Amino acid sequence: MQVVRCHRRSSSNDVVVSTLPLYRSAPPLEVRLEDFELFAMDRLRVLKGISDGLSRGKKPEEIAKLAMDHWKANMRYPQATEDVNKDNISHFVLRLVYCRTEELRKWFLSMETALFRYRFHSESSEAQRALMSEFNLPYKAVSNAEFESVKDKLVQVARSMGQTLLPADAIFYKVPFEEVSELVAGRRVFIHKGHAYVAMNQVVSLVVTQFRSNLSKALILTNRKWTSTIREQEKDRLTPIVEALCTSYLGPDYSQPKEFAEISIKDIDQIAKTSFPLCMRHLFEKVREDHHLKHGGRMQLGLFLKGVGLKVDDALAFWKAEFAQKVGAERFDKEYAYNIRHNYGREGKRTDYTPYSCQKVILSTPGVGDHHGCPYRHFSEENLRAALARMGVGSRIVEDVIDKARNRHYQLACTLTFEAVHGSSCDAGINHPNQYFIESQKILQSKNGSMAQ
Ligand code: SF4
Repeated sequence: MQVVRCHRRSSSNDVVVSTLPLYRSAPPLEVRLEDFELFAMDRLRVLKGISDGLSRGKKPEEIAKLAMDHWKANMRYPQATEDVNKDNISHFVLRLVYCRTEELRKWFLSMETALFRYRFHSESSEAQRALMSEFNLPYKAVSNAEFESVKDKLVQVARSMGQTLLPADAIFYKVPFEEVSELVAGRRVFIHKGHAYVAMNQVVSLVVTQFRSNLSKALILTNRKWTSTIREQEKDRLTPIVEALCTSYLGPDYSQPKEFAEISIKDIDQIAKTSFPLCMRHLFEKVREDHHLKHGGRMQLGLFLKGVGLKVDDALAFWKAEFAQKVGAERFDKEYAYNIRHNYGREGKRTDYTPYSCQKVILSTPGVGDHHGCPYRHFSEENLRAALARMGVGSRIVEDVIDKARNRHYQLACTLTFEAVHGSSCDAGINHPNQYFIESQKILQSKNGSMAQ
């Protein structure tokens, strides 16, 4: 595999090796299809880690630590050169995955920008300066002589912000003051003859803004290329991977019931009330009410029930008891039973199908008459309020949940609901409907001293 290194020249013209690429163009590398996917999944773990931290309201320094820990755990090789290749390849694969809708682009842009910010911070100051010059930002570092002439003023500004001393290796840039209006308004810079003296850690935000703007344009271009110019043959090969990555779930596998295995039909109504997340509770109530569910709903609920331990014969009995009331037993056997056995790997390719993750449920697009999807995303505010009230969530928490849902933090909204309903925290956050079920059963079991009935 060809190696891409990030050599840059510092202002003193020495070669500086930075591990942080600017992703200007896709690297000319031969990539095996499995690396294409694996590298992207590893990067996705880092971005999801940042996203979870942000939506749980962690402090910036906590998220920075989290991001770098995830980066080390998922993106590091013993050889630094391979790191750089993986970094480049995974970024460009995810561009393909996340360029395709406004919503995906927005998420990717925010997470990649946050990651860039934390990685930029962790670079040496030489590498940071080299990166800045690569962005062609027209700012010059203040010379030693000039620094000495304004040092007292800079110290005064630093003091006013609670810093006592300037670090010995402090670097300042002269920037036209109108370009840093926020810093000027906050009196966080010294201004002289139309220039603001901006400290290195303040310049970071200018670099990050530039990075974000470049990536935003690049995502639009990638989307255009993907839809118009990429060769059909290549598209056929890549589309299944790109689509799967977009909804890929990176947590534990819930295809087989693990803890609290086996639920029986006689317990199912009670368990649905106590331990199903809202998405499944809604589907369950609908099938009981209408004696029917369209395909999307049958898949979402059917695979969930399989994951929580409903055996195939019980599943057939459960669906038949409902559907027979609407379409008759004979039609059920002919048209619907096959699909249920199929989900359990008893028909067709005998694949064992996996219950849907939150990500997949949230990104689904229910149409008229469908009941699948995630209520925090797909319900109207009014319906969501009513559903939460039926679950026994108090009005103050309902407002918090609605606020999270409005701001598109659907899983966090679900986590808050879980915590309210169970009176217990869920630090890991909800990532999977089957995880919701297991966590719920754990709590109920410890409260009751035996399996909740
Ligand atoms: S966040 Fe996940 S578990 Fe909760 S309702 Fe939505 S899809 Fe279901």
